[in-house]
Amino acid sequence: MTAPQSPTVNAAQPGTKERIDRLHAGGIVDFHFDLPMHLYEQRERENVFASEILPQLEMGNISVAVAAVYVEDRYVPEMSLRVALDQIARLYNEADACPRVALCKSYRQIQTAREAGKIAFLLAMEGVEPLGTDLDLLRAFYELGVRSIGLTHARRNAAGSGGLFAPVGSSAEGLTSFGRDLVRECESLGIIIDLAHINAAGFDEILSLTTKPPVVSHTNARRFYDIERNISDRQIKMIGERQGVIGVNSVLVSPRREDCTLDRYVDHIAHIADLAGIDCVGIGFDFFEFIFNQWPEARKRELEEKLTKPHFIPGLTNHSHAANVTRKLIERGFSDEEIEKILRQNWLRILQQTLKD
Ligand SMILES: [Zn+2]
Repeated sequence: MTAPQSPTVNAAQPGTKERIDRLHAGGIVDFHFDLPMHLYEQRERENVFASEILPQLEMGNISVAVAAVYVEDRYVPEMSLRVALDQIARLYNEADACPRVALCKSYRQIQTAREAGKIAFLLAMEGVEPLGTDLDLLRAFYELGVRSIGLTHARRNAAGSGGLFAPVGSSAEGLTSFGRDLVRECESLGIIIDLAHINAAGFDEILSLTTKPPVVSHTNARRFYDIERNISDRQIKMIGERQGVIGVNSVLVSPRREDCTLDRYVDHIAHIADLAGIDCVGIGFDFFEFIFNQWPEARKRELEEKLTKPHFIPGLTNHSHAANVTRKLIERGFSDEEIEKILRQNWLRILQQTLKD
């Protein structure tokens, strides 16, 4: 991995740097980061987090990151539970070795960490394969700190079906009875239910089963990238009506490489704000290049065949580039108040409303 680079996109206007610094002073909340998977893959090495990831988070003024456990296809089903537990153990070990971060389980702990100038991590699970069909394991993962759960990735599992990386063809079926039980149990425990990846039928069903503001941690508008893994205008409005928040993903902003730009990233933010309101849009970077680049060619090809070919946005490939988004939001005429909502306040409100103390 190369050292983080300073943002280089667009020469700053006089005063812009100061304005960005001011806007970043309260920190940025990123609601989707595949860190546990990366730490697991790099488990033969020590201090991966402190030496490679932390400098980027610091340069980008990240103050809260939702770290999602994700188990790849090759471990499913037999190894799912074990790999998930190993990923969590890796995160704990690396966090313990680094006084700059705190693994948090409540909104109060997140606020305490932020006040102490630490980076708060919240554990999440992307796809419930580690649970099998055992609701008791949900309680065990809750005790380990898991506070946000997306029922599926792209594949079908015991809880439901994911949206395909294609414009049509996802399962028309909603959740399974296990999936419905899981949603109810998450709400009662104080676990956020993340609607990222779920198919359209599952999306509607989760909204009908829950009362809290809904969360889509990392997604993009189908308006600009029309695949069922992303969300439609109808879904964006539904999230807005329930005062939920949608995190904008940096990896699926367009199927065309030439359109994968910072401007297109901000187009997604602006589109969601137009349809659902400025209180409903946040950041869910889903940075992936640092993982992808370490894969052998055969594995990259497998991902492209199964899902899609990722196009990374120049100037937005890791957390050290966060200021490029802020600069672009300024350029596009967003006010300070709007930018602060996008960068952190909307997500902090959700965390306060959904987590228990
Ligand atoms: Zn994802």
